[in-house]
Amino acid sequence: MLGIVQHHGVLSSCDDFAGDGAVAVAAGVDRSGRAGQWSPITAIEEGRNELEFPLRIHGPRTIDSNAPTAMIVILKSDVTEAQIEHVLDRVKELGMTPHLSKGTHRTIVGIIGDEEQLRSEPLRAIQGVADVIPVLPPYKLASREAHPEPSVVRVGNVEVGGGKLAMIAGPCAVEDPDRMLRIGEAIRKSGANILRGGAFKPRTSPYAFQGLGLEGLKILRETGDAVGLPVVTEVTDPRLVEQVAEYADMLQIGARNMQNFVLLTEAGKTRKPVLLKRGMSATVVDLLMSAEYILSEGNTDVILCERGVKGFDPSTRNLFDVAAVANIQGLSHLPIIVDPSHATGRPDLIPACALAGLAAGADGVHIEVHDCPEVAKSDGPQALLPEQYDEIAGQLRQLATLLGKAFAEPA
Ligand code: PEP
Ligand code: MN
Repeated sequence: MLGIVQHHGVLSSCDDFAGDGAVAVAAGVDRSGRAGQWSPITAIEEGRNELEFPLRIHGPRTIDSNAPTAMIVILKSDVTEAQIEHVLDRVKELGMTPHLSKGTHRTIVGIIGDEEQLRSEPLRAIQGVADVIPVLPPYKLASREAHPEPSVVRVGNVEVGGGKLAMIAGPCAVEDPDRMLRIGEAIRKSGANILRGGAFKPRTSPYAFQGLGLEGLKILRETGDAVGLPVVTEVTDPRLVEQVAEYADMLQIGARNMQNFVLLTEAGKTRKPVLLKRGMSATVVDLLMSAEYILSEGNTDVILCERGVKGFDPSTRNLFDVAAVANIQGLSHLPIIVDPSHATGRPDLIPACALAGLAAGADGVHIEVHDCPEVAKSDGPQALLPEQYDEIAGQLRQLATLLGKAFAEPA
């Protein structure tokens, strides 16, 4: 049996994983919560805790992107001596010291070194290698290990995270100033703390309404200022980042652009917070790797958003992955909010999914609101009316209180 355990704490009892050829790996923060200090990597064979690699790093509290990384190479049961030698030679060629551990049925090699040099793919390609397991996640800056406390992101004068909830609301697209003001005033009264509205709309059809562009940015900014709320709007193109950042308090990177790496990098160069939505076919790790693009440029303010993934059932627009909320909170310190509007595409399902998201631990809720959905230029069918938003906001507030959280108040 072969088991790999990665957990936050020193591995003290591995009975579950002990056994013939069992291997256990402990990594992350120690019991005192100090990150950057790894517990020893211990291989436990046949119930005996006797193989200890001298792999111990004392690092800073925050792991930076240059922090060393470690890998465990697991060799095949029929690996030859020549193949083992070859693996060791390759590691030495990279200037690192391999730590060989031979068990009765399995042989493993522990390696520690610079991630630029130490990559799992080439090692995996060597004959006799069964698997290569990185000890730390590849999303170093976004990971819990990097920052055990939940991050708080400031959007204009609103703090999101650490028990303070983002209540983002507004129409899918900015349409005209009067409507924007009506919606802005209504959602603010209901407790929303960030106003949304798309000026650059990513549409499936090139013939569909593409947004008002610069004019939309101006209307959104003016409305936000008039109602006293920070504003978030989508940026769809790296060439627009500077312009959107001039008007918005937070840049939204939409599902369709979650892996537009040039856009992520440009957003990372700004010092505006970024609302990064999960791509419709993106895994949780894909999302965290995209956040890493922004963080590694020095922009520490990223809020993640679960907005549903492609499902097989056409009765909802997407499949709301509520488990992703709790999952991401275990893996990352970044705030994660839910968007039940795009996740379901159905006003009748939005309240239930908003509540479910909050109950799962979300740091906020993003909902599209329009005062006359039948004339909306985009996403009308999924928009809540202001009075419907008011009702769900009241329910969310009650749940927040129960959870010991509160809607963030604009300062
Ligand atoms: C939006 O927020 O209007 C939008 C287009 O969202 P998504 O990128 O999640 O589809
Ligand atoms: Mn929309």
